[in-house]
Amino acid sequence: MGVLDNKRALIVGVASNRSIAWGIAEAMAQQGAEIALTYQNEKLKTRVEQCAEVCGSKVVLPLDVTRDEDVEAVFAELERQWDGLDILVHAVGFAPREELAGSFVDNTTRAGFATAQDISAYSFVALAKAARPLMRGRNGSLLTLTYLGGERALPNYNVMGPAKAALEASVRYMAYDLGPEGTRVNAISAGPIRTLAASGIGDFRKMLDYNAQAAPLRRNVTPEDVGKAGVFLCSDFASGITGEIVHVDGGFHSVALSGAEFE
Ligand code: NAD
Repeated sequence: MGVLDNKRALIVGVASNRSIAWGIAEAMAQQGAEIALTYQNEKLKTRVEQCAEVCGSKVVLPLDVTRDEDVEAVFAELERQWDGLDILVHAVGFAPREELAGSFVDNTTRAGFATAQDISAYSFVALAKAARPLMRGRNGSLLTLTYLGGERALPNYNVMGPAKAALEASVRYMAYDLGPEGTRVNAISAGPIRTLAASGIGDFRKMLDYNAQAAPLRRNVTPEDVGKAGVFLCSDFASGITGEIVHVDGGFHSVALSGAEFE
């Protein structure tokens, strides 16, 4: 018996078996959820289909979140195959690589800023809007992935910082809006994890090393750590939690000075 038995989950953001979305999909499948996955483009299709096989997912659909017609098509197909949706996971983020290094002020462009906001923040609202009729009245749960760079400044994260800040504010507005229908909305603020998206951030290796040293748990987190927290937040054990940003970062966000430097 799993804590997500009889729940149906759409997970957006699997690109490889290193994706945070994959950690969440595996953990949710282990806890009994039925999983649907999406892939951004044809290049990623085979890899996502392989992941789908592992978690027993029979629904694998194309979805580029910048295309309204893709969003509509995904939920039309889900409605055809399923009678409702209990969980929606949004693990999508993007900004042009050349804006993820160096000076924030000098390197941020109008187009790059808009792209980061559109793909990394607005898309969560767009998915919620399309999912709303399928989730209403089911004690459903929406979950997104954010990063500390949305709360505080750090090197290289640059234009993704304001995008994550917008995403986190959207979590609160979505929770406020959807709460009366019984739908909860939360985010996990994950510590740095080596994934395809993370490889676009300048000096990512240094970030990993610094975090592992400074975090109270003295290690980096894994997609499995995030997956377990995702299961909790989307399960009935979290029935009273909404509008929340939960840090799954080994405690890094809670320290002001790294103890490792004093040892
Ligand atoms: P990833 O590269 O595995 O996943 C990013 C996903 O975004 C990919 O599946 C990609 O296909 C998808 N995507 C990008 N543009 C898209 C579009 N237009 N339409 C549909 N999908 C699109 O990397 P990840 O690190 O697992 O990222 C997942 C989420 O976790 C992101 O929001 C990221 O910002 C966040 N996050 C990552 C870290 C980290 O260190 N890796 C830390 C905190 C938060």
